Amino acid sequence: MITARGFDVDYGRGQLADLLGELGPWVAVTQPEPWERIRTGLPTEPSQVLWSGDLRPSHLDGLVDGLPADATVVGIGGGSAMDTAKWLHHRTGRTLVQVPSLPSVDACFTRMTALRDAGGVRYEGDSVPEVVIVDFDLIWSAPRELVAGGIGDVLSCHTGLHDWALGAAVGRDAPWDETSAERAREYLDDLEELAPLLAAGDDRGVQMLMECHRDIGWLCHELGHARFEEGSEHFWAYAFEHVTGRTIMHGELVTLGVLVMSTLQGNDPDRPRRIADAAGARTDLGELGVAWSEVEAALVRLPSFVEEQGLWYSVANGLEVGPAQLEAARTALRVVD
Ligand SMILES: [Zn+2]
Repeated sequence: MITARGFDVDYGRGQLADLLGELGPWVAVTQPEPWERIRTGLPTEPSQVLWSGDLRPSHLDGLVDGLPADATVVGIGGGSAMDTAKWLHHRTGRTLVQVPSLPSVDACFTRMTALRDAGGVRYEGDSVPEVVIVDFDLIWSAPRELVAGGIGDVLSCHTGLHDWALGAAVGRDAPWDETSAERAREYLDDLEELAPLLAAGDDRGVQMLMECHRDIGWLCHELGHARFEEGSEHFWAYAFEHVTGRTIMHGELVTLGVLVMSTLQGNDPDRPRRIADAAGARTDLGELGVAWSEVEAALVRLPSFVEEQGLWYSVANGLEVGPAQLEAARTALRVVD
């Protein structure tokens, strides 16, 4: 098991209420679903509840103007809550505390805010929280399959590493770094170990997964890029969002991407399948409310999409997507007629 580097984390059960009670005035930056889960047990009401979701800089800067003096900013929920809280900290210097509501959230361990600007994503800012609070009571108050969906952004190392090696071999993008690659292999080994713990509802599974996210956030900052964990599986996910105009939970979408792209890479697709099943992650398209036609459209669009967007070199560059590739993807996702 890795010894993670990165931001301070407080792991426990039910400690969130005590820690919030000691903060003094605070502002909650959250989303309706996680807020409903925690609001009844709060020792003190926040001075303000801000809803996250709109990550345009103009909107975020409007929130800064209305922020009460001296209030600690507490992000509670998923990626958009973490990103909004980071931006408020970045613009005001207020103390920042992050409370992820699911272990899929690596945004609490990264420094920059993913702003939505001019139809794209732009990363800006440099925010380090005072502490990240992982309260297992809060995590397990979510459906277990959503907790399991948190594996996606670690599982992506399986395909990300392969694509990085392809890119390095043709002299594209960031040069290969064996120390970082070895670290990413350790995350995958940890994932294999923690997957059954997640399925069993064991706190240790959540903690190991969050420690992977924590170290990944640190490594991305050190390296200056995320090639070891972001490759064609993410690019397929972005293409999915592009062609369908919608999305599903990020970790679940990326997991589908890993299953499909590892098959097309010829890169031991049995391993990510084994891990996803052991964790109890949802990969059945029907359960996820995803149509095969959407998966197919994203895959067909992928080769031109990565060129247009200037994404890192991967198996998607120049990929032929014909009947054989589509059949392999259907098999990977266990699609039956
Ligand atoms: Zn991701």
